[in-house]
Amino acid sequence: MKGTRELMIVLGGGESGVGAALLAKAKGYTVFLSDKSLLQESYRQILQQEGIPFEEGQHTEETIFQADEVVKSPGIPEKAPIIQKLREKKIPVISEIELASRYTNAQLIGITGSNGKTTTTLLTHHLLKTAGFNVGLAGNIGESFAQQVLDHSFDYYVLELSSFQLDDMVQARMNVAILLNITPDHLDRYEYQFSKYVDSKFRILQNMTPDDTFIYYQESPVISEALPVKKPVPRLLPVSLVDAPKPGAYLKDGLLVIDNGSQSLEIPLADLPLKGQHNAINMLAATLAALAVGVKPDALREGLLTFQNAAHRLEPAGEIKGVQFINDSKATNVDSVYYALESITTPVVWIAGGLDKGNEYDQLEPLVRKKVKALICLGKDNRKLVSYFADRVPTLFETQDVNEAVAKGLELANPGDTVLLSPACASFDLFRNYEDRGNQFKEAVKRIMNDE
Ligand code: ADP
Repeated sequence: MKGTRELMIVLGGGESGVGAALLAKAKGYTVFLSDKSLLQESYRQILQQEGIPFEEGQHTEETIFQADEVVKSPGIPEKAPIIQKLREKKIPVISEIELASRYTNAQLIGITGSNGKTTTTLLTHHLLKTAGFNVGLAGNIGESFAQQVLDHSFDYYVLELSSFQLDDMVQARMNVAILLNITPDHLDRYEYQFSKYVDSKFRILQNMTPDDTFIYYQESPVISEALPVKKPVPRLLPVSLVDAPKPGAYLKDGLLVIDNGSQSLEIPLADLPLKGQHNAINMLAATLAALAVGVKPDALREGLLTFQNAAHRLEPAGEIKGVQFINDSKATNVDSVYYALESITTPVVWIAGGLDKGNEYDQLEPLVRKKVKALICLGKDNRKLVSYFADRVPTLFETQDVNEAVAKGLELANPGDTVLLSPACASFDLFRNYEDRGNQFKEAVKRIMNDE
């Protein structure tokens, strides 16, 4: 353990940085926090109350370069000049996850992937909690891991890990890791090299031992190509929607089958609250993880049946005149829209659009032709959606107003149809964030329901 006089510099004063600063101080470091932007008032107050010195709006290099160690918040890119200089000076840079992991003996279940992290993390946490485990939830969700380690003594943590949190993890070891999928995302942070983003995701394997368990979705082409190169050390448990791997977990004839070699469970997908193939993958992976740490099949069954997902992920938003409204505002890329459309069995009026992140829509074409009766483009600049889908959907409508989108959706749908908000795009052109977009959508639906 580090000595008491060591200087820990924390870069970034958001949830992760402030958590790291508090933990480092409690563990005897001299701490200084530096943020190039202004801090949120609540974080500023916490630092002041705890007597942790900080600066905002600048990075004072003379101070920062005195660090024995630096904690870098996940929002700071590797190419930021201050990070480049720290690397040149060979001053160790770690992530908040790395710091927090030094101060807990809990078993760690780490979950990553381009899509499905939050759902799978919440579900895994719910499965352990339902079974009576003393378990915490942290990482890219809710309170920082560092803050949790400071305030609680959990025996297990379920950690949602973004690629930015996996970067700068040095010695942290996951006892169980889940890798759900890898599709292009955040490439601006990885020098536009997909291989660097893939490397980052696979960092979840580092330090794992043969006693640990690695759960992965085997039909992800990127994962299956990279696996032989990465030579994973832990026990491998694949999840599949087409094969029946044993040990492993799979979907067969509408049944989720989970069999880790010593314990097994079967449960019909139709009985479960999470819908769609993507959620079958998430449930299979979460269940394998819970089995790996000793949750019994009966408790797993109960946990799967009672799980409620976070909002904005295929969330039922109401029914008007027999038309179902679904809020999938979190679907900010094409892959997640694919799974949303796939999960819906009725004709769909699809509301999409927003800030395009370099989308290619070919992947969606067969599903759109099969299921989508109308496309409502909701965004400031609908050019790309319109040019791709104009000849591929029977009806297309453009708007910049969520109320109009919902009203038009209702007009174009018949009883039994579904109006699906699943944008494939970021929300910042018309909304504060995806939550704001989802909430405004739900409110628009409620308003019409109340007027009916
Ligand atoms: P993340 O935390 O990785 O963004 P979420 O659980 O919040 O993931 O889900 C984000 C979106 O991704 C959802 O709208 C959902 O439709 C889609 N999604 C969820 N799980 C998967 C999966 N296993 N594969 C592909 N897409 C998924």
